[in-house]
Amino acid sequence: MRLVRHPVLCNYYVTYRCNATCGFCDIWERPSPYVTLDNARANLRDLRRLGVRVVDFTGGEPLLHRQLPELLREAKQLGFITTVTTNALLYPKQAERLRGLVDMLHFSLDSPVADEHDRSRGVKCFDKVMESIQVARQLGERPDILFTVFEHNVQQIRAVYSDICQPNGLVLILNPVFDYNDVKTGGTLSETALRQLAEWGRRPGVYLNDAFIQLRRDGGNHINKSVCRAGSTTLVISPENKLVLPCYHLGLKEFPVDDDLYTLYRSDEVQKLVSLEGRLPACEGCAINCYMQPSFAVEVNRYFWRALPSTLKYNRMKGTWKQLFR
Ligand code: SF4
Ligand code: SF4
Repeated sequence: MRLVRHPVLCNYYVTYRCNATCGFCDIWERPSPYVTLDNARANLRDLRRLGVRVVDFTGGEPLLHRQLPELLREAKQLGFITTVTTNALLYPKQAERLRGLVDMLHFSLDSPVADEHDRSRGVKCFDKVMESIQVARQLGERPDILFTVFEHNVQQIRAVYSDICQPNGLVLILNPVFDYNDVKTGGTLSETALRQLAEWGRRPGVYLNDAFIQLRRDGGNHINKSVCRAGSTTLVISPENKLVLPCYHLGLKEFPVDDDLYTLYRSDEVQKLVSLEGRLPACEGCAINCYMQPSFAVEVNRYFWRALPSTLKYNRMKGTWKQLFR
C-alpha cells in the first residue's frame, strides 16, 4: 500500500566538484559548474508545491559552494528540513555562516585512525573532522558522524562510537557501502558484517536503517518486484539545473528545468521515466541507500516495517520528528 504519492526529498547537487578524491566515489572526476541562487530560488518554490519536505544540499563537496548559507536560508524560509553531508575540510572556516541553517549536518568519517581515513579520502582531512566537531559543538550545532561501513572497517565501529561519538555527544550514523555503475567499493558486506552492523544499530546513539540490512540479505532491488521508488520520492537536480532521472547514479536522462520544475516533473515524459524506477536492467541488485531510504518510507511493505523503528529513533535523537509533521 502506497502511503505517500508525492515526492518527499530533493537531492540538490550544488556542484559535482570536490576537494577530496575518495576511492569509492567518482563524482569528483566530473567537471561541474555551481548552481545559481536564482535557479535555486525558483526550484525551491516548485519543490514546495510538489510536496517535498527535505532538501539535501549535496555534491561533490557542498561547502565548496560559496553561497551555500544563502541556499540553506532560502530553503529554511520555505519550511524545508535541510541536510548537508561534508568531508569537513572547509567546515571550520564556514561554520559561523552555516550556524542554525542545517537540520541534519553530517561529517563523513571512514576510520578512527587518521592515516586510514586520509588514505580513503585521498586528502588529509581526519584532523579537520576532529576540529569541526569541536567548532560545531562550540556553536551549539549537533552534527552526526556518518561512518561508511565496508567489510574492512566493521571492527572499527567500536572505536568511532566510544572514542569519537560518545565523548562528544554525537549520533553515529552507519552507512553500509554500496556499489554503483563502475565504482567498485570492495564487494558486498558478508553476513557476519551485516549481523555486527545490525547489533550496533540497536545501541543508544547509533542510527542504522535496519531495512538496509534486509535489502542486502535479499540481494538488493529486483527488477521484477521492485522496491525502489527513487523517481517518485526523490527529485535530483544537477549543478547545470537539470532534472536527473530516475536517480543520480543511473542518470538515464536529464531535462533542463527552464524555470518551471513543477510542470516539468509532472510532464508525461518525466512521469514515464519515473514509472521505470527500479525496473531498468541496471536496477537489478541495487542497494543505493540514498534512494532506498525514502522508498522505504512511503509504501507499506516488509522494508517499511524494518525501517520504521530506526527512523523514529533517529528523529527522536535529533528532535526532527516535529518538523516532519508540520
Ligand atoms: S568527499 Fe564525498 S563527494 Fe567528495 S570524493 Fe569523497 S565521497 Fe565523493
Ligand atoms: S534501483 Fe537503484 S539504480 Fe535503479 S532507479 Fe532505483 S536507485 Fe536508481
